[in-house]
Amino acid sequence: MEMFVDKVRITVCGGRGGDGAVAFHREKYVASGGPDGGDGGHGGSVILRVNDNMSTLLDFRYKRKYAAQAGVNGMGRKMAGKRGEPLIIQVPRGTVVRDAETGQIIVDMSTGEDYIIAKGGRGGWGNAHYATPTRQVPRFAKAGLKGEERDIVLELKLLADVGLVGFPNVGKSTLLSVTSNARPKIANYHFTTLFPNLGVIYVEEGVSFVMADIPGIIEGAAEGLGLGHDFLRHIDRCRLLVHVIDVSGSEGRDPVEDFDAICAELGNYSVDLGDRPMIVAANKCDLLPPDSDNLQRLREHVEKAGCELYEISAGTTQGTRNLMRVVAQKLQTLPPVTIYEPEYVEVIEAPADPSAFEIEHYGSTWLITGRFLERLVENINFDDYESRNYFDLQLRKCGLFTRLEEMGIQDGDTVDIYDLEFEYQR
Ligand code: GDP
Ligand code: MG
Repeated sequence: MEMFVDKVRITVCGGRGGDGAVAFHREKYVASGGPDGGDGGHGGSVILRVNDNMSTLLDFRYKRKYAAQAGVNGMGRKMAGKRGEPLIIQVPRGTVVRDAETGQIIVDMSTGEDYIIAKGGRGGWGNAHYATPTRQVPRFAKAGLKGEERDIVLELKLLADVGLVGFPNVGKSTLLSVTSNARPKIANYHFTTLFPNLGVIYVEEGVSFVMADIPGIIEGAAEGLGLGHDFLRHIDRCRLLVHVIDVSGSEGRDPVEDFDAICAELGNYSVDLGDRPMIVAANKCDLLPPDSDNLQRLREHVEKAGCELYEISAGTTQGTRNLMRVVAQKLQTLPPVTIYEPEYVEVIEAPADPSAFEIEHYGSTWLITGRFLERLVENINFDDYESRNYFDLQLRKCGLFTRLEEMGIQDGDTVDIYDLEFEYQR
């Protein structure tokens, strides 16, 4: 028996950026050419994309790690390394992506937009990047950066307006098959439905909705006692539940008890699901013995609980069209299908220590690295006079110039701080 997989944990990893190259131009009759090492290519990103032909997360069962391609290292002749190919991970529509550590929702793959789940690392600059007419030959290049890596949980929550609930064998799949284009498996034994089935129901021109048939809920499912618990997440988003009950008692069960048992299961799963609007379909009316008081008892009980009851026979299709019309009308009064908002907040970095920077020096070129300065450079608008003054002040305050002078920097030397390069003047 093939299992239905609707929750998996995977690791996604952006590709590493390629290293910048250290290389020198060589030509006949030219003793020593200029630096011509190219930049490393950026690493590829991991991208999530909706594929409407997928209906389970089965493909993820055996493969747990997904890494995009690394960027290629830079080469001589100023040749930049090729950028890493992105890795596209296809997921069924309605897949909710969470951070594995915190359980917070990162993205709900319901709208059809691609989502970059792990960015590739930046490629490093080659030494050609550092070439200036006055500079001594730069014998350095930057290494590529690592790609982002994260553990995530994929969870499938179908996008359906209506969810069919009820005990096994009450006729849920039959109802879906006679009212929609879906062709679910129907058989007279329990748990024939192992995959959720979605069907589109056309009521009339311009009026249609999506109905889901999930595997039968059995008592204790919400405590994980049997098949069904996992499947309740599929109806989490449904705007309306249609509770199918075998009113004929053809399997020896009592319809009133069935109604209470399923309602209790829904409430145990979540308060929210327990409170979801519900319509009751009293099914198998064709099998109802003439002397039975089942229908009457069920109707009174259900109406006391605040639900409407409709008599149907999915087997003969008696009353099913009317029920679908009622469902469509009810849907018009209900809010749209829930799309989950991201809960995930990127971890805010603690402020970096301004005096924690490193200086490397190659001839007249001075390479500065340090998290505080990296962020400073990223956030300064160098077209703006005030901002430049602020930047200058920060560099003085953190002691950069003092240290450079102690190490013997000369006027006219080049200072490199990440994407910024300037000529030093005392
Ligand atoms: P599910 O487990 O709730 O999906 O139930 P199914 O749709 O698979 O139906 C279980 C059995 O009940 C099948 O043998 C159906 O043919 C039968 N069945 C479903 N609805 C009716 C009905 O209204 N009348 C009769 N007589 N049999 C029905
Ligand atoms: Mg079924």
